[in-house]
Amino acid sequence: MILSTERLLPDAHGYSRAAEILRDGGRVAFPTETVYGLGGDARNDRAVAGIFEAKGRPRFNPLIVHVDSAEAARAYVEWSEGAERLAGAFWPGPLTMVLPLKPGTRLSPLVTAELPTLAIRVPAHPVAQALLHTFGGPVAAPSANPSGRISPTSAAHVLAGLDGRIEAVLDGGTCDVGVESTILGLVDGPVLLRPGGIAVEEIEAVIGNRVARHTDGDAISAPGQLASHYAPGAIVRLNATTRQEGELLLGFGTVDCDLNLSPTGDLREAAANLFGHLHRLDAQGAKAIAVSPIPDTGLGQAINDRLRRAAAPRPGPAQP
Ligand code: AMP
Ligand code: MG
Repeated sequence: MILSTERLLPDAHGYSRAAEILRDGGRVAFPTETVYGLGGDARNDRAVAGIFEAKGRPRFNPLIVHVDSAEAARAYVEWSEGAERLAGAFWPGPLTMVLPLKPGTRLSPLVTAELPTLAIRVPAHPVAQALLHTFGGPVAAPSANPSGRISPTSAAHVLAGLDGRIEAVLDGGTCDVGVESTILGLVDGPVLLRPGGIAVEEIEAVIGNRVARHTDGDAISAPGQLASHYAPGAIVRLNATTRQEGELLLGFGTVDCDLNLSPTGDLREAAANLFGHLHRLDAQGAKAIAVSPIPDTGLGQAINDRLRRAAAPRPGPAQP
């Protein structure tokens, strides 16, 4: 669907319109001090699915949640002394902390890609601050560019990639840092997960400890994190057109099934429902879950990627 993307100015009308779009589950690109982010309500499955859809991301990787203060952040993550010090030194600013997710936060499981941790930051850009304040909730935001393209540092860059694919862009001029936030894991000791706007040496000076460097460059492929990835207890069988003995069928489109990802065959609705429905069938004690074929276009690619992983043979505890 082609949308007409609203260009909003950073004034009272622009902020209230942007907040209204976010509350309705829409997507608003906004400036931060690093790059423009593509924001959606982090509690709304459909909004978060819409971010992946607009970017054309072939995978549901975890997103950074943006809030307007350290106090707001504490509602979502298990806080620690290290987090307190780092927040005191670098927030608001280009530091993202990965901390254990608090139970019962009601964030969309698409935001964390079902990891037990959450990446969170408080941006310093006055336009980002004002938007978060007006909206009053957590905003999930990856960079506002189509997947595989470079990160945007102006509203014109955002529109060059996403015009017609998102509800609005809040034009706050040019970003000054232009590189992404530094991502620091604080789950089992400090680990640099992505270098960025704040140098690791500055972080070490604040915490008085060495920060381990993550060498393979891919935060979520770290073995510990992969192992904690949710897989249903049930066996998963893909591209199923009928139910076999003992299976529950997770449907898509007009099929007779136990639970339907999207009766109308809408991929965004299916993405929004994916994790919740898998959990629900699992909780029903299914021994096996059969899944209808999902078209491998647009968001279907990310859905199929996730389903293939759920269906893959499970690594035993002895494997690396
Ligand atoms: P982007 O969405 O382009 O801003 O990138 C977000 C980055 O944050 C990706 O590299 C993710 O892998 C990383 N990230 C987000 N959440 C987590 C998490 N819970 N644990 C580790 N890395 C994360
Ligand atoms: Mg990016």
